[in-house]
Amino acid sequence: MVIEGKRLLAFNSNDYLGLANHPELKKAFIAGAEKWGVGSGSAHLVTGHTTAHHQLEEELAAFTGREKALLFSSGYMANLAMVTALIEKNGHVFEDRLNHASLIDAGHLAAAKMHRYQHADVASLQRMFDRVESPNKMIVTDGVFSMDGDIAPLKQLSQVAQDNDALLAVDDAHGFGVLGETGAGSIEQAGLSSRQVPVIMGTLGKAMGCAGAFIAADEVVIETLIQKARSYIYTTAQPAAIAVATSAALKLLETEAWRRQHLASLVERFKQGASQLGLSLMPSPTAIQPLLAGSSQRAIAWAEQLRQRGILVTAIRPPTVPKDTARLRITLSAAHTEEQVDRLLQALGQLNRDEANA
Ligand SMILES: *Cc1c(COP(=O)(O)O)cnc(C)c1O
Repeated sequence: MVIEGKRLLAFNSNDYLGLANHPELKKAFIAGAEKWGVGSGSAHLVTGHTTAHHQLEEELAAFTGREKALLFSSGYMANLAMVTALIEKNGHVFEDRLNHASLIDAGHLAAAKMHRYQHADVASLQRMFDRVESPNKMIVTDGVFSMDGDIAPLKQLSQVAQDNDALLAVDDAHGFGVLGETGAGSIEQAGLSSRQVPVIMGTLGKAMGCAGAFIAADEVVIETLIQKARSYIYTTAQPAAIAVATSAALKLLETEAWRRQHLASLVERFKQGASQLGLSLMPSPTAIQPLLAGSSQRAIAWAEQLRQRGILVTAIRPPTVPKDTARLRITLSAAHTEEQVDRLLQALGQLNRDEANA
């Protein structure tokens, strides 16, 4: 990235597969704009919904192994839709404490009562179920947690959902495109069926390198969203050219599997290097590799020192993360080379030595 004229090696983007600048995506995007124009002109339910959107929805449904998929203009809006439309008044929503802000906001906006269980703690969730008597319950979790990089215990969550007759919905913003045999995400990686995880939300602005989001589920769920989700109904459809580019990105998931493999090997290289340097990485198997600083001051100082060495990493502080857990949120991408990851490790090692000598 170039910021204020200075070239920086960036480790803070969610463009995990390096697709945002892929020539095939650019070509598809331009062709899409030539065919459909730039703006969609209106909401999906008016005339904003084109055959390009429709085709992408069908491709996403097939790719995730669900009956139907529905596009949204952003992941934030998809999450508002998912929680507010699928749970009724007097219902109960159960959310992981570390869920993404959009899911937490959705829980507050929903007519249902929200409960927040301890992070990735299925026993804590079960105790909450033991105190709630209602036929209308929903569990909502990040698949990969956005600030920690760890993966939700999806298998156990699906069991608790079944035992308690609750609907399980997974926000796979950071798993979709990256995890699983074909890149279908954390649910594929966990080997779970559409019966075990009925509702998936995936974003298209991260690993897919485009913009927007989708929800994939059975037909009844998707129809319910179309009829009831206000963040679907009352907003302009995303540009059709984005849908065309996203279809191209989906094809690249199949033909360029090396991107997922290369990313996985970079994650392994980084973790090994960091452990040799004695760095306090948080335990994450994904492309999100947070380095715990503790105080906001320390995290900011680290980010500043890295920047002076030509490396861009973002310091994430409360209230985005809990008190005293400010961190550098390091993200890796298939667009990085091994040499670049080594440069990052070198700079982090220097940081460590400077602090020890201070
Ligand atoms: C980024 C993100 C979103 C929001 O997606 P946008 O398309 O950026 O609005 C939702 N959930 C999680 C876990 C995310 O990381």
